[in-house]
Amino acid sequence: MNTLQENHSELFNFLDTSTSPYHAVKNVRDHLLKANFTQLNEQTPWKLSTGGYFIERDGSIAAWYFRNTKEASNGLAIVAAHTDSPNLRLKPVLKGNQVGLSQFGVEVYGGALLNSWLDRDLGISGRLITLSPNNEIEEHLVQINEPVAKIPQLAIHLNRSVNENGLILNPQQHLRPIWNDVSSDTTDLVGFIASESGIDRQSIRSWDLMLHDLQKATFAGADKQWIASARIDNLISCHASLSSFIKSVSGDKFKKVPILCLFNHEEVGSTSAAGAAGNLLPLLIQRIFKDIDYSEALAKSLMVSADGAHATHPNYLEKHDLDHEIRMNAGIAIKRNSNERYATNAIGQATAQKICESNNIPYQLFSNRSDLACGSTIGPISSANLGISTIDLGIPQLSMHSTRELCGKRDVTFLEDFLFNFFGS
Ligand code: ZN
Repeated sequence: MNTLQENHSELFNFLDTSTSPYHAVKNVRDHLLKANFTQLNEQTPWKLSTGGYFIERDGSIAAWYFRNTKEASNGLAIVAAHTDSPNLRLKPVLKGNQVGLSQFGVEVYGGALLNSWLDRDLGISGRLITLSPNNEIEEHLVQINEPVAKIPQLAIHLNRSVNENGLILNPQQHLRPIWNDVSSDTTDLVGFIASESGIDRQSIRSWDLMLHDLQKATFAGADKQWIASARIDNLISCHASLSSFIKSVSGDKFKKVPILCLFNHEEVGSTSAAGAAGNLLPLLIQRIFKDIDYSEALAKSLMVSADGAHATHPNYLEKHDLDHEIRMNAGIAIKRNSNERYATNAIGQATAQKICESNNIPYQLFSNRSDLACGSTIGPISSANLGISTIDLGIPQLSMHSTRELCGKRDVTFLEDFLFNFFGS
């Protein structure tokens, strides 16, 4: 039995409870605090002595271990991933009813596979913003793990050609969830969430709320060789990055300054104050190296952008470049793209292969079909922002951006091993 089979409950708990980027950050924060990291505030001056630190910014979290500025001139070893996943987000005004059913509007966040939200048992999570009696704006994480909302699919009898012509979903019209009968005494959705969460409804001013599928993470396949879960993209990478980071730091197994950076807003292009295109990481590096010229250290630095990769789909071979077949449980996928949709260049590829080969970690090389537009990651964005060589890689998966994704169990261990050895290299 391998380690993940034995110790999966912690990973599954992370996948199940990180239903919003804010919850992912909370879970990461809890792990860092347990490992004796200190939370710093960007609004106050920092005095760094030897130790682990982290900062948070709107659904993003960055942690590092600092020994001294001189050592920091060896450069940085950065592992980056993203805390957000495509989903359906609640609108600022929640109202509406039709034919005796209470409804509300949603907005599609990122490139969600819309069909995967139909007929699922949906909970609600995110944050409520309140105004306190002393006029302070306060944030409260909320998570309703009950099947409150449903988006029922249209019966086939009313759309006979759906299987031949494909399902067309208009996000404004067809994705409005139902959540109660109009005749119920409970008519205010936010009031319902507030009372379930022990928050005074009158104090609530606004929210960032989203839906999540309640089905929990599980092993799948006859040999239980796969993991089926929501948000595999990219919580699996967040978790592997976090655990390898903490393991490196606590075992003193690093040479460069290890930095873990988990960004919000990757699924919508990363351009935000908290996203990878913002100044979170550049400012953090400036503050670590305060008062010294760190351009030399930056030039010696290396980053890994860990994000999901497409496994070759057995039913859609024509969608893949079969010279670059990617299999689940056959190793991490190192991603290449000449048009810089992935940041890995030949030197980065060779560097990743060297780490794999010297630690018996299997790897595969991913390249998109040449006649299909390629996805991207935070790799090229962060790389351009910092001028740091970056390697894009990740765990092969199927059903990317569905509410229920699938990846290989062994690959999770391979990614953790790789990142641990990356921090130590
Ligand atoms: Zn991703």
